[in-house]
Amino acid sequence: MERESILISNKSIAIVGAGPAGCASALFLQNYGFEDITLFDFGKVLRTILPTGGGRCNITNAQYDYREFAKNYPRGEKFLYSILSKFGAQDTVNFFKSIGVETYTQDDSRIFPVSNSSSDVRNKILNKLHCKIVKEKVLSIVPLDNCYKLVTSKSSYAFDIIIIAIGGHSDFSLFKELGVNIIEPTQSLVGLCTKEDFSNISGVSIKNAIADNIQGDILFTHQGISGPLIYTLSSLYAKREIPYELFIKLAEIDNFQDLLNQNSHKDIKNLISKFVPKSISEYILNTLGIDPARKAHTIDGKTRDSIKNYIEKFKITVTGKKADGEVVTCGGIDLKEFNPQTLELKKHPNIYCCGEVMDIDGFCGGFNLQNCWSGAYVAATAIAQQENLH
Ligand SMILES: Cc1cc2nc3c(=O)[nH]c(=O)nc-3n(C[C@H](O)[C@H](O)[C@H](O)COP(=O)(O)OP(=O)(O)OC[C@H]3O[C@@H](n4cnc5c(N)ncnc54)[C@H](O)[C@@H]3O)c2cc1C
Repeated sequence: MERESILISNKSIAIVGAGPAGCASALFLQNYGFEDITLFDFGKVLRTILPTGGGRCNITNAQYDYREFAKNYPRGEKFLYSILSKFGAQDTVNFFKSIGVETYTQDDSRIFPVSNSSSDVRNKILNKLHCKIVKEKVLSIVPLDNCYKLVTSKSSYAFDIIIIAIGGHSDFSLFKELGVNIIEPTQSLVGLCTKEDFSNISGVSIKNAIADNIQGDILFTHQGISGPLIYTLSSLYAKREIPYELFIKLAEIDNFQDLLNQNSHKDIKNLISKFVPKSISEYILNTLGIDPARKAHTIDGKTRDSIKNYIEKFKITVTGKKADGEVVTCGGIDLKEFNPQTLELKKHPNIYCCGEVMDIDGFCGGFNLQNCWSGAYVAATAIAQQENLH
């Protein structure tokens, strides 16, 4: 991706937000030959990449068909077609290679840096950044005749072009003067708080549980339930009104009567432990009011079916969200506000957005960072095309 540029633009560009989307935008613009780039962030540049992938930085996902890739975004799937077709997972791998970050693909298709270090990825990006960095919070953007006034906590500046990449965790007040529609933000990829009290089985996990045809591991916690399957469900149902119910198949209970017949003098809790961890079998029996030490031969058909139903249709009532996952924002700037080919705001020429600030969010697996790399590329390329640098 490194480009030898002979053309140089004298247009001034401000990038608001130095997270993955903002920093990638700066790198792409530099490569196109822009020299007057200023990156604004009130915090440490690219600090938000440090916790990603548990400190390993899951950069993207090895799905190279953009339509298939886009299926991993509960919000933004169709909108992303043109963006991902211009800059997809392979482009991300190539881009990182060009800045010295070699990658590898895990068995589950997640792509990580060979260093397994998000801090290494951060350093490699910072080494390539040559733009001005201003440690100030941008408070508002005011349209003027031929440019935009950027008002910060300390000063005000004028810029020809602006890229807004403030992520999903800000208060969006920056957009007040711009009059764009904001889809109310809420958290996604989180653990769920439940009405049911799982504190006695907190820390216990179940592999390959299934809910709504999605398979994954779950983890019981003090406040409720968590783990990969729950993160996916929290994303799918991010906008559901709370409280709501979920039904999870903890295990498939086959030939239960045969099992009871063949082990008639065993405790029921030990037989159920063939399907779920022992502590959970006790939890289930206690909840159903069945003595865990009851012998198998005393279990009548109705009781047998109630146990089977309970395990195969384990009901939880979701009462809240617990920010213990990747925590991305569902919601943000309404996608109707953008030209999907360029990510320019329809109402404000020369203002672009990219990354989590937009109403796009994906599942765990590298999809949210890919949204940043792709959006940054598309916005930077559109600016370069406008200036005849591409
Ligand atoms: C714990 C955790 C782990 C994750 N792991 C992964 C992973 O492995 N793979 C993956 O794909 N995704 C992962 N994600 C999601 C991913 O990190 C985000 O989607 C991504 O960081 C969004 O990037 P962004 O640049 O859009 O916004 P952000 O990363 O939020 O960056 C926005 C920046 O803008 C700055 N800013 C905000 N408002 C202003 C303002 N008014 N003025 C100036 N600056 C401002 C902020 O200080 C911040 O630095 C993870 C998220 C979390 C929380």
